[in-house]
Amino acid sequence: MKKFVIAIDGPAGAGKSTVSRIVAKRLNFLYVDTGAMYRVLTLKAIKQNIKWEEREKLIEMTKNTKIDLEDNEEYKVILDGKDVSDEIRKEEISKNSGYIASILEIREILWEIQRSFREKYDIVMEGRDIGTKVFPDAQIKIFLDASIEERAKRRYLQLKEMGMEEDIEKIKKEIIERDKKDKNRKIAPLIKSDDYYYIDTTNLTIEQVVEKIIYLYRKIIGEEKN
Ligand code: C5P
Repeated sequence: MKKFVIAIDGPAGAGKSTVSRIVAKRLNFLYVDTGAMYRVLTLKAIKQNIKWEEREKLIEMTKNTKIDLEDNEEYKVILDGKDVSDEIRKEEISKNSGYIASILEIREILWEIQRSFREKYDIVMEGRDIGTKVFPDAQIKIFLDASIEERAKRRYLQLKEMGMEEDIEKIKKEIIERDKKDKNRKIAPLIKSDDYYYIDTTNLTIEQVVEKIIYLYRKIIGEEKN
């Protein structure tokens, strides 16, 4: 039988990472943050001074990159053996991650890695294209959303917690810009097809969102058994 996949997609700052990680812990599933993979490649390209127009170089760089995601007490993102968990959250990375994300050959490499997790594990995977491209046959697809004000506030608090103080209006502008790019790109855009459960998290607590997803899971599992 195919391993269970809960796909969680949605715009920046909708609470995907926090919620996905808690759901995965409770269900004893593997949690995979795919945004971290696009961020890691963006960071490496900047460090290597590769320009966004240099497609071939970016593809070659991706082929020669090792990305490890470790979920222990904290979620660690390791690029070629080095912990870059905090570095990849910086605004410069958020702002520029759309370039890497729009190259099909790079996405294909990442899709293959992302799909490979299902060979062994039940997973909660979050991103923009999990239910549409990575696992179109995911057993549960969730689209997490929230108002732009709320999303900017959450991102502001998240960065502050990591010791990075940013202007909230600047964050808001960056999120709007990034959402536009993610929704309108030709390859694997962020879209909510009819098979998604839509959850507006603006006025919900993290726990309430987690509960909703776990309820859905139990319902589906129950139905499968009957
Ligand atoms: O989720 P996060 O904000 O970390 O994602 C960073 C960027 O990576 C997104 O704005 C998007 O451009 C890209 N991304 C993507 N597909 C995914 C996950 C992230 O294109 N599945």
